[in-house]
Amino acid sequence: MTSENGISDWSPSSWQKKPIKQDVIYEDQEHLKQVLTKLSSLPPLVSPTEIKKLRHQLSLVATRKAFLLQGGDCAELFEYCSKLKVLLQMSLVLTWGARIPVVRIARMAGQYAKPRSKPTEIYEGKEIPSFRGDNVNGFDPSDRKPDPERLVGAYFHSAATLNYVRSILSSGFADLHRPSEWSLHHVRSSGIRQEYQKIVDRLTDALDFMKTIGADSPVSPSSSILNTVDLFMSHEGLLLEYEQSLTHPFKDSESGQEKWYNLSAHFLWIGDRTRQIDGAHVEYFRGIENPIGIKVGPSMKPQELRELLDVVNPNKEVGKVTLITRYGATEVDKHLPSHIQILKDSGHVVVWACDPMHGNTKQSLSGVKTRHFDSIIEELSKTIKIHKANDSHMNGVHFELTGDRVTECIGGSMQLLDSDLPSNYKTYCDPRLNYEQSLDMAFLIAKYYEK
Ligand code: PEP
Ligand code: MN
Repeated sequence: MTSENGISDWSPSSWQKKPIKQDVIYEDQEHLKQVLTKLSSLPPLVSPTEIKKLRHQLSLVATRKAFLLQGGDCAELFEYCSKLKVLLQMSLVLTWGARIPVVRIARMAGQYAKPRSKPTEIYEGKEIPSFRGDNVNGFDPSDRKPDPERLVGAYFHSAATLNYVRSILSSGFADLHRPSEWSLHHVRSSGIRQEYQKIVDRLTDALDFMKTIGADSPVSPSSSILNTVDLFMSHEGLLLEYEQSLTHPFKDSESGQEKWYNLSAHFLWIGDRTRQIDGAHVEYFRGIENPIGIKVGPSMKPQELRELLDVVNPNKEVGKVTLITRYGATEVDKHLPSHIQILKDSGHVVVWACDPMHGNTKQSLSGVKTRHFDSIIEELSKTIKIHKANDSHMNGVHFELTGDRVTECIGGSMQLLDSDLPSNYKTYCDPRLNYEQSLDMAFLIAKYYEK
């Protein structure tokens, strides 16, 4: 049997016949059904045209003509977001340093659900369900029962976030033109501060020069590359009921063929805990047209990786799949070379992105989750070197970050210490790079690729 999109035995609901990990059990199934019916009748959040545009851009990333920057919260909450500015500033630094266009994908407008290592946790001596994300249950320990209504909340919060992003991008993001105003007082070491200042001065000069020659024309801001930017949205495709409801058929104008698009985001990825070849998540992902990511951790066997790619991308389309590697600074040398090798043997051309966050999570002295800036840099630099040594290329990066001045990761040019963590520790899930640490990261990567 062949479905409308030409993929055998696939439909937006075919995942339901497969074993599923990280499933949410709702008590009131009737309520869930009503919610899903409602979601499937609401307007799409993004368009197939935008999705195709990103697919094209990622094919350029896979062939080294552009660089991928993906970042945002571990778990977004249903509230205001502040990551936009830092993502744009990071991409400006990267574009300038590596002289290569940057494709930006935010973990935003839908990044609510979280896979958890344990379904329950102990709170004040009692076992309660774990927090699964704002679209499932509440962070408050008294509100942990999964509520289907939260899925509708997720849709509307995604829509509101997208609306805000689209409106501020279309009205121009002037900050990008004034890197000289970026505050450097967080940089504690005077050596690093001088280095930073040098880069900011050169960046300012480059932008002034573009203005002088009219390449950054204020007359027609909408056509200026620095005033209009593409920013695509992404989240982990974890709650398949939700993803299914927002999956719609769309007739391809060239081939006339009907294809299925997940219109809740431009890009979705499969988490490291849900990427089983015979599992429900891989089944769902193999049928959608969106570009997709797969998290690749130390437990991925090379042969398994090859089979997985054959399942989700049988036609070996360049850049359709982004492999987001997250082994950990001490494990990357053990696994990445064999993964690169199997890819070469397989003929798949992917985007290789490095997520130096998820393999480097530690407990702080006070017992909260943290990550050391040095381990993040170590995994990143080892990844770049291993790719080079194996005639491959790190095409992009994937970070958990925020534009706020939080204190969740240790180190960076602010030299945050373990004892500083309690002062502004805000995350509801994993520790994120703060504003300054994110810019540090961009400057460091730009230096690696500086031409
Ligand atoms: C994440 O990206 O927040 C996450 C849970 O990652 P991973 O699936 O790689 O553990
Ligand atoms: Mn995370």
